[in-house]
Amino acid sequence: MVESLARDLVCIDCGAVSPLGYRLECDKCRGLLELRYDLDRLRAKGPALFAGPGLWRYAAVLPVGDAAHRVTLGEGGTPLLECPRLARQLGVRRLLLKYDGSNPTGTVKDRTSATAVGAALQFGYTATSVVSSGNAGSSIAAYSARAGLRSLIFAYERASAPKLLHMSATASDLIIYKGVYDDLITLWDRLVEERLFFDCGASRNPYKHEGKKTLAYEIAEQSGWAPPDVVVAPVAVGETFIATARGFRELRDAGLIARLPRMVAAQATRANAIARAFRDGTAITPIKIGYTVAEGLAAGSPGRKGDWVLRLLREHDGLAADAEDQEILDAQRLVARAEGIWAGPTGVATVAVLKRLLEGRQLDPAQTICAIISETGLKTEAALPSREGTAFDLDSLRRLVVERLSGRGRPG
Ligand SMILES: [Zn+2]
Repeated sequence: MVESLARDLVCIDCGAVSPLGYRLECDKCRGLLELRYDLDRLRAKGPALFAGPGLWRYAAVLPVGDAAHRVTLGEGGTPLLECPRLARQLGVRRLLLKYDGSNPTGTVKDRTSATAVGAALQFGYTATSVVSSGNAGSSIAAYSARAGLRSLIFAYERASAPKLLHMSATASDLIIYKGVYDDLITLWDRLVEERLFFDCGASRNPYKHEGKKTLAYEIAEQSGWAPPDVVVAPVAVGETFIATARGFRELRDAGLIARLPRMVAAQATRANAIARAFRDGTAITPIKIGYTVAEGLAAGSPGRKGDWVLRLLREHDGLAADAEDQEILDAQRLVARAEGIWAGPTGVATVAVLKRLLEGRQLDPAQTICAIISETGLKTEAALPSREGTAFDLDSLRRLVVERLSGRGRPG
């Protein structure tokens, strides 16, 4: 068994160190906590510390010590796809898509669900809970069921039908809430303090967001430990962004990679509190948001995690931008046609933002760019194409096939 190199928890604001345990914030200043590992061991042993497939390949740098608590549905180990046709269409030399829609419940959230539910077991909890637009809810519900835990899933009333079906199948308790994420999360976060359930939300729990760090480890290892120049990550409250940036930093500090990729934070324009603050050089002002097609990015008040994203962007020469709903839907079709990858709007917002940044000459097209695609399109709800059918005989069928194929080259 690979042991965990997790050593302690450090406050990101005042630097105070606390022992490993179920803590959500710093005792001294209430700052957010991050896990710290024995990176000297990682430096000494290198990739030899990583064994087996999927997310738990990186168990050494995850905070779940007992192998019996490492709950899995086969998450992680997702493909890093070379996308030459899409690269050509966007005008960039080399483009890689990290396709996390191939996780067991079709979302990057499965990475955090594995470590969140693993930590719930580790700390003896019997129930989990999360407030979700759909993806986190179905993922936490599935992993909780897999671990034999009760799950109280609070789901957005406009969550897509496939996400609701999935949640109602896997959650022990599914509760639909009125309004958007921001409306419920403040209240729910107060209940977290009462320790009635294990916190599987995105706001504070350091054990939960740790799972997404494996994105950086996988991208680095799949690139032969020479990661891309730029990594574009989706940002709602910032969990994926922060975890990926931390992963690359650990790898650099342990000497496994030579330099950090430049991190780009991608938001939906209708929920762009962080991108706006970055552009204006100000602190984050929460915004009242309505609906965006990128359901998973619909957070107007990203809280302290949002401040953390902004700090990482400013300290490490990052970049933040957003894309309108129509641009996101256009990117969804573009990625599907150019590369055969069917991602949901939340998942493909990174490509819409990348397109904007390239058009605005804010990124160097000669660099190698990687965009994280965080969800499958198979859970999307949208207007169906026409179902009106045609009846054929052999002649009319041949005529149609010849007509369709004549005078056309290869697509793209
Ligand atoms: Zn502190």
